[in-house]
Amino acid sequence: MLSDDFTISQLAIPAVSLLISFLAYSSQYFFLHFEAAPLRKDELWKINIFALCIWICYFRACFVDPGRLPTKANVALLDHPEKDTATGRQRWCRRCEAYKPPRAHHCKTCKRCIPKMDHHCPWTSNCVSHFTFPHFIRFLFYAVVGMGYLETLLWERASIVWSSRYLPSYLGPSVGQLIHLLLLFVINSMTVFALFILLVRSLWSLLFNTTTIESWEIERHETLVRRSRVLGGYLDAPGGKKIRIKKQEFPYDIGLWSNIKDGMGGSINIISWFWPLAATPDHETGWAFEINDFEDPGVSWPPPDPDRIPLPARPLPEDGSELLKSYSSAREEIEAFKRRQAEDFERARPSPEIQKRKRFHERHKQNDDREDDEQILPGPVYGDDSDEGEESWRNAEGERLRDFGVDEDVEFYDEDEIPLGILMKQRNQGR
Ligand SMILES: [Zn+2]
Ligand SMILES: [Zn+2]
Repeated sequence: MLSDDFTISQLAIPAVSLLISFLAYSSQYFFLHFEAAPLRKDELWKINIFALCIWICYFRACFVDPGRLPTKANVALLDHPEKDTATGRQRWCRRCEAYKPPRAHHCKTCKRCIPKMDHHCPWTSNCVSHFTFPHFIRFLFYAVVGMGYLETLLWERASIVWSSRYLPSYLGPSVGQLIHLLLLFVINSMTVFALFILLVRSLWSLLFNTTTIESWEIERHETLVRRSRVLGGYLDAPGGKKIRIKKQEFPYDIGLWSNIKDGMGGSINIISWFWPLAATPDHETGWAFEINDFEDPGVSWPPPDPDRIPLPARPLPEDGSELLKSYSSAREEIEAFKRRQAEDFERARPSPEIQKRKRFHERHKQNDDREDDEQILPGPVYGDDSDEGEESWRNAEGERLRDFGVDEDVEFYDEDEIPLGILMKQRNQGR
């Protein structure tokens, strides 16, 4: 698996570069030798200017650092943990062993928490983040405009070929030229269509200040609200707790103009939004974000999710009293034995990093099948890591959290509390 990923990520940038070269430069070769309508000077300029903008934006989207939590900020957060509580609870990343700022996610490929992570893009082999989003969206913009322009030029030549189809063949283009034109036309049309959809999606993200991951979180929240409505406003959480699920507004949508300004790096200069050499957002930014006032100050994002909050610590068995219990039937005794065995197995695991929850629907089906007098264990834990649990929940487009490139193990089951050691340190510092 690892070597597969390695090969794909190694090939992505050369493959995209080859595609850009084929469309931008082989098309010029074709136009120059297409006698019926050779390339005009202004067309030549336009193609090359678009190509240059595409190259600059693409390479910046690939190679600009998507951001990392500086050690300095880490220390600052440790000294002033209240900084991070502006939007509610503090989040902790198990992999980085550091505070996870609001809107940051742990990328599986970059192997660290990325500020305002949108998704890890396989075509740029880089994260689309607070720092790379402006470059990424400019790349999409110039690619769509440039390839749209190329499409009009190709269309013009194709219609000339079509209208002269009854002329003797020695007057028209050669077979090689016809194949070249067809290839350019098909590849350009398909690519511009796919990138147009991606551009619209990214523009939507920009206008509403909602990353792709956050759109997923919004859908997940809506699903939880629907589930809780059926179950009386509450959902079961581990340890027999019940969590009240209430519709929450997305906090980072702060108005169209501010959303665009913040998304494009904080500048109010509209020209800089389009300028391929515009500065990457300041590295001091990206750790705290302005929020709207739709919700009470104490409410946090993402909203509470009973399937993502940590399991309570398991109490150790007391003096083996369970072993002395008497059972009414042999079957019951065997089941009790199996349960103890499974619990021992859970406890004995070297680092019970993630404890997956069963899928919501399976869990409820299971509860319905039980007899009434039996104890219902809310949010049962999985013993078998090979099975898929609630982390495989998908949004309307069929995407689960890992499809955005995040480390799903620490992201889905990420509602970690701050480790005890850090809390003690904070308390000591506060004295
Ligand atoms: Zn992390
Ligand atoms: Zn990444």
